[in-house]
This record gives sequence, C-alpha cells and structure tokens, in this order.
Amino acid sequence: MTTAQHITQASYLLAAALFIFSLRWLNSPKTARQGVAAGVAGMVFAIGGTLLHPDIVSYKWIAIALVVGTVVGIPLSWVPLTAVPQRTALSHAFGGLAAGLVGTAKYMLWLEDGGLTHFRTAAIVVEVILGFLTFTGSLMAAGKLQEVLPTRPLTYRNQNVVNFTLLGIAVLSGIYLIVNPETWQLFPVVVVLSLVFGVLLILPIGGADMPTVISLLNSYAGLAAVAMGFVLENMLLVIAGALDGSSGFILSVIMCRAMNRSFTNVLFGAFGQVSAVQAAGEARTVKSATPQDVADILENASSVVVVPGYGMAVAQAQHRIRELYDQLTKRGIQCRFAIHPVAGRMPGHMNVLLAEAEVPYTALAEMDDINPDLPQTDVVIVVGANDVVNPAARHDTKSPIYGMPIINADKAKTVIAIKRSMNPGFAGIENELYYADNCLMAFGDAKAVLGDIVKALSGEAVAIH
Ligand code: NAP
Repeated sequence: MTTAQHITQASYLLAAALFIFSLRWLNSPKTARQGVAAGVAGMVFAIGGTLLHPDIVSYKWIAIALVVGTVVGIPLSWVPLTAVPQRTALSHAFGGLAAGLVGTAKYMLWLEDGGLTHFRTAAIVVEVILGFLTFTGSLMAAGKLQEVLPTRPLTYRNQNVVNFTLLGIAVLSGIYLIVNPETWQLFPVVVVLSLVFGVLLILPIGGADMPTVISLLNSYAGLAAVAMGFVLENMLLVIAGALDGSSGFILSVIMCRAMNRSFTNVLFGAFGQVSAVQAAGEARTVKSATPQDVADILENASSVVVVPGYGMAVAQAQHRIRELYDQLTKRGIQCRFAIHPVAGRMPGHMNVLLAEAEVPYTALAEMDDINPDLPQTDVVIVVGANDVVNPAARHDTKSPIYGMPIINADKAKTVIAIKRSMNPGFAGIENELYYADNCLMAFGDAKAVLGDIVKALSGEAVAIH
C-alpha cells in the first residue's frame, strides 16, 4: 500500500470510530453537543481520506458536487424546528438519489468494460431498488408534511396487492439481472418500478404518521449506502450505512412501541385519517380558568409537573415555559417536565425545544420515571399535549390509542390544560381528561397564556383575553 492509501485507511478507521461515539453521545442531552461534534469530525475525516484516495478520477467534479451540496444544504439548515421532519425527509431523498445514481453509473461502466460479476450486480440491484424507492418515498413524505400534497391517506381498492405486485416484479427482475448481469434491458425496469413503488408506498399513509415513515426510510437509505459501499468497495460506507440503517430502524421501532402500533399498522393502516370527534352521549362541560387563577393555584403548590406536547411546538412556547420554571423554582416549588416519547411530531421534539430554551435537562423526566410520582403531584400543567395524556388509552378498548402508554396527568391533584379550543389532537379523538373534576382548561395560545401566567406570578397586571 502507498502512503496515501495508508492515510486514507487510517482516516476511515478514525471516522468509523467517531460515528459510533457520535451515536452513543447523541443518546443523552448531556452529551448531545459532543455527539454532533464527533459526527462532524467523522465526516471531515471521511471526506479528507477519500480526497487522498489514489483512484480519484476527477477533482473537478468533486469540487462542483461540494459547491452544489453546500449551496443547497446551507439554506436547508435555516428551516424552523417545526419543519425539521420534512427537511430530514429531503435529506433522505438526496441520500437515496445519490445511492441510486451511483449504482446506475457503476452498472453502466461495468457493463461496458465487462466488469459485471454476480456479486457486483447483486449489490447494485439492492442499492438501486432501495435508493430509488427511498428517493421518491422521501419526497412524498416531505410533500405531505409540508402540506403541498394531500396529508390524508389516499387509498383505493386492492392498493396493497398492486403495491406488492410492483415490488415483486422489481425484485424478480433484479434477481434475473443478478443471474444474467448483461441483460441490461431489465435495468430500467428495476429503476422505474422502484421509483413508482416509493410513491405508492407513501400515498396511503396519513401525514401525521410521516415521522415514523421517515425513520423507516432513513433505515432504507442506510441499507442502500451499505450496498453502495460494496459496489464501491468502500468499507467506511458499509459501516456508516449499517449504523444509519440500524439506528433508523431502532428509532421507528421505539416510535411504534410508544404509540402501541405495529409496523404493518403504520405502513398499511391508513391511520392518519382524522375522524370526526366522537359525539359524546350527553353534552359535557369543562371548567375554565384564567391565567390569574392558574397563578394562584401554582403559588399554593409545592410540586408542579409540566407536560409539553405538539401545541408547545406550534406556539413556540418553550421560552415562556422556561420563565415559568424560573418563577416556580425561585419560590421553592419543585418543577419538573414529563416527556412522552412521541409527544410532538418527531422523536426528541420536546427535548430539543426545551434545550433551546435552556431548561436544565436534569428537570426532564421520562414517562416511566415520572408516572409513579404523579398521584402525589399538586399541579400538572398540560401545555398543548393531548393524545399523550388521554386516559382513554388505559381503559377504552375501542379507542384508536388504546394501549398506548400515556403520562398519567389525570392522577395529579389538579390538572391545568392549556390549549386553544376543544379540538382533538393527532389521533382525532376527544380527551376525557378535560372533563375530569380535577381539570381546569386555560384556553388560548400556549405562548400567550403562559406569558400571562408568568406575569401574574411576578405580580404584574394581566390583560383579560
Ligand atoms: P396532539 O395529540 O397532536 O395534540 C396537540 C394539541 O395541541 C392539540 O389538541 C391542539 O389543540 C393543541 N395546540 C395546537 N396549537 C396550539 C397552540 N398554538 N397553543 C396551544 N395549544 C395548541 O399532541 P401530543 O399530545 O404531543 O401527541 C402527539 C401525537 O402525535 C400522538 O398521537 C403521537 O402518537 C403522534 N405522533 C408523534 C410522533 C413523534 O415522533 N413525536 C410521530 C408520529 C405521530 P387546539 O387546536 O385546541 O389548540
């Protein structure tokens, strides 16, 4: 091996180790920044090592690609946090497209110079199928999340049969191609069917289920990168792709478990369809409270738990929550945050927003850790959370969220729910918590209501909204 090759291999080894540490450190808010830095450093070593690679044919094209990638990538990082799921979907789409195009280019090059072996063709077929279906599937997911495409599930009769027939034809054509690598006529068939399958796979899935689908597509993009690593004989790509693929898969499993849903239900259940709010037998009433009432209740409490949800993200109320936390802790009132694994619309949504507002991560507690403390808690403030505190999940076998683990906010002595109306959340169902005797509704935008509560706590006059 030449010196350049040695340096390339050493930087790949370093990059692989950094990627593994990065994932490990991203596991906890305490080390998350370190994790991001390790990931970036790993990428620098990976790119640096590749640039030294003696087989590089053209630095000019690499420079052009780096410029284009930077020009597209920088504005993509400016999106607001609420748009991160669709931005992530776009990144996966690019990853899938890159894998699909590299596979296509390699197939054509090897077809020309007679370099196609069965193994190489097998790696290319896997790369191309997963790459192109991830490309169109992720574009559809991004479109649904951005609402440029209809977010409701688009279904028709025998949809799953049609989808799997298409995928079946693509896979069979791929197998034929592996056995007879020179049958180039089948290659475009595999490409087109994979592109179409990506679209058809996502159409019947509701917009709100997209975060789960995106982490699944993330794992497909990772597997496509593994196949690309075999095609390009690049072990770092194989390692990085395997890490990407497995972490995406683990994340989708965690999300499905936290929603008590199965993969098949997410992929084929057309769940995101928001059903009309159930007509309750008799008209029930709720009790409302003003920000001043809430402040009075809080002043007499000794323990408070805040349950943030999707509404906190919509209202961007995390800074007001931090101010509330400061006011309460200043008075010696214990204030903690109960984080449900699927609160919001993406994994870690609440943690990221609270970290942005510099809420100490030691005040954050996971659902299973905080639930046993809730019956002894004086006040639970539910900020724009709905499904994740709906007691129906515990006992109503007919409820679409039956079996989903929830934060037992209803068990606290007093519950204050901040939301704008009686509208349902993501699952489209009524929440019996709001009608409970110990629950008070503080209606309004979470940011405004919390701002008024903080003002009232600090003795300022609060305008009546
Ligand atoms: P949710 O059930 O969707 O409810 C959010 C509530 O926020 C709504 O009821 C809404 O009521 C309120 N809201 C919206 N804007 C608001 C504002 N500006 N101010 C105050 N309130 C506002 O949210 P969640 O309890 O966080 O549950 C998350 C749901 O998403 C779960 O069903 C979960 O399964 C699903 N999901 C999550 C993920 C994930 O990764 N986190 C992925 C896929 C699906 P109003 O309109 O009345 O204000």
